[in-house]
Amino acid sequence: MLANIKIVLVETSHPGNIGAVARAMKNMCLSQLTLVSPKIFPSAEATSRAAGADNILMRAEICDSLAEALQDCAVVIGASARSRTISWPELTPRECVNFLQTLPSQTKVAIVFGRENSGLKNHELDLCQYLLRIPCNSEFSSLNLAAAVQVVGYELFLTFGHQEIKAIGDAGAAPLANAEQMEAFYVHLLQTIADIGFLHPEKSRSIMRRLRRIYNRTHLDTKELDILRGILRFSQNHNNNNKSC
Ligand code: SAH
Repeated sequence: MLANIKIVLVETSHPGNIGAVARAMKNMCLSQLTLVSPKIFPSAEATSRAAGADNILMRAEICDSLAEALQDCAVVIGASARSRTISWPELTPRECVNFLQTLPSQTKVAIVFGRENSGLKNHELDLCQYLLRIPCNSEFSSLNLAAAVQVVGYELFLTFGHQEIKAIGDAGAAPLANAEQMEAFYVHLLQTIADIGFLHPEKSRSIMRRLRRIYNRTHLDTKELDILRGILRFSQNHNNNNKSC
C-alpha cells in the first residue's frame, strides 16, 4: 500500500518545506512525491532540508495542474487545517488509514497538501473524495506543511509499514508460514498437549483457540515454525522416554 500512495504538494512556496516533506516521507517509507507548480524547484535549500532523502526529490513528478497529478489515482484525499462550509466527508489520519485498509492493496491513492499561506482552494477540494483533518488545538490548527505530512505518514506507517519493519530488522528472514503449515503446527501442538497430559483433547478447544490467537498475531516465518515444531517433538520424545522408564 505505501508504494501506491502519492503525496501531492500544491504550489508550495518555500523549497525548504519541499525538502522537509521528502525527509518526512522517507522516514515513513513513502516514496512518491508529486509537486504541482512549485514556486521554486529544484533548489539547494530543498536538497539540504531533505537531509539524505534527496532521492525522493530527484524522482519527484512535476505537474502543471492538480487534475494532471491525480490522473492515475482512484482515491483522492485532501488535507486541510480548516473545516469547510461545503462539507466533504471528514477523516482523521487514523480514520483515513482504516478506510485505506478496506481497499485492494493495488489501489492508487493521492493525499493532497495545500499552500503554506492559503491551503487548498475549494475547486481543488472538489477533486478530492475526502477531507483529512489532523485533530489539534482548535485555536491554532495549522501545522507546518512537513509536520502535517509527518503525522499522516506516521499513521500510514503504523498500519502499512510492518513489511518494511520486518525487511529492515530481519534482512535474511524466511517466508511467512502459510495457512497449511500453520494448521499442521496446530495439529502437532494439540497432539503434544494431549501426550504430555497438559489437557485432554476434548477439553482443549478454548485453550487451542487462545493459542491460535497468540500465534496468529505474531506472523511466524517458516524457520520460526521449524523451531517450535522441534520443541514439540522434543517434548513428545522426552515424555515417551519418561513413560518407558
Ligand atoms: N494557512 C493554511 C494552512 C496551510 S498549512 C490554511 O489556512 O489552510 C499547509 C498545508 O498543510 C495545508 O494546506 C494542509 O494540507 C496541511 N495541514 C496543515 N495543518 C493541517 C491540519 N491540522 N490538518 C490537516 N492538514 C493540515
